[in-house]
Amino acid sequence: SVHGKGAGRFLLKLSGEAFAGGGGLGVDPDVVHTIAREIAAVVRDGAQIAVVIGGGNFFRGAELQQRGMDRARSDYMGMLGTVMNCLALQDFLEKEGIDSRVQTAITMGQVAEPYIPLRAVRHLEKGRVVIFGAGMGMPYFSTDTTAAQRALEIHAEALLMGKNGVDGVYDSDPKTNADAVKFDALGYGEVITRDLKVADMTAITLCRDNKLPILVFELLTAGNIARAVKGEKIGTLVSD
Ligand code: UDP
Repeated sequence: SVHGKGAGRFLLKLSGEAFAGGGGLGVDPDVVHTIAREIAAVVRDGAQIAVVIGGGNFFRGAELQQRGMDRARSDYMGMLGTVMNCLALQDFLEKEGIDSRVQTAITMGQVAEPYIPLRAVRHLEKGRVVIFGAGMGMPYFSTDTTAAQRALEIHAEALLMGKNGVDGVYDSDPKTNADAVKFDALGYGEVITRDLKVADMTAITLCRDNKLPILVFELLTAGNIARAVKGEKIGTLVSD
């Protein structure tokens, strides 16, 4: 297995869109509860899990910009949206008996700790899930890039990218092309030259430059988070 025994440290990137359930917008508590149960199971088995959640179920800066808003302000709205996802996940982790801390890149002391990397590592060592909110606190970045950066800073062994409705990386869009072929493994270079939809380029190059493996997998298939943590052959592994 690529990752070892399943008891390492991982950065789990969760699709914000998945949090919306069928509704497309906002948070579906049933979906969040399901994801929380799966995370709780791997934490009980000894894995250290840090989480970054997307914000596509609330706002995307680029989309608001297209509709006439200032990009940076739109991006801040996007970042604030991710914090609601973090709080929802924290709530359901608590119901599962798992301690967690939300750390945000934009300080909001009443609901979360500020992002303090060494403290995040300490939480992980104590078996707490750490949920990173508000992206990197910087407009023009994404939560994919945030996930890569946080994974590197806390020395996670892999970036586990849970996607909504797709079970890996394909050579073309499987939703529109019935002949699309799925990759089991890929090099970073191939992702870049073929412009494959793994994550945005900033995130990919950050992973490539620092040799951080990325596992792309379907988030909502029951048991998949545990499979990803154990290094089972699911999804697509992007590495050197
Ligand atoms: N965002 C940002 N900086 C960050 C992380 C996120 O500006 O470090 C904003 C950006 O506007 C993005 C939104 O937050 O569109 C939601 O994040 P996400 O990465 O989920 O966007 P998506 O991938 O859904 O487009």
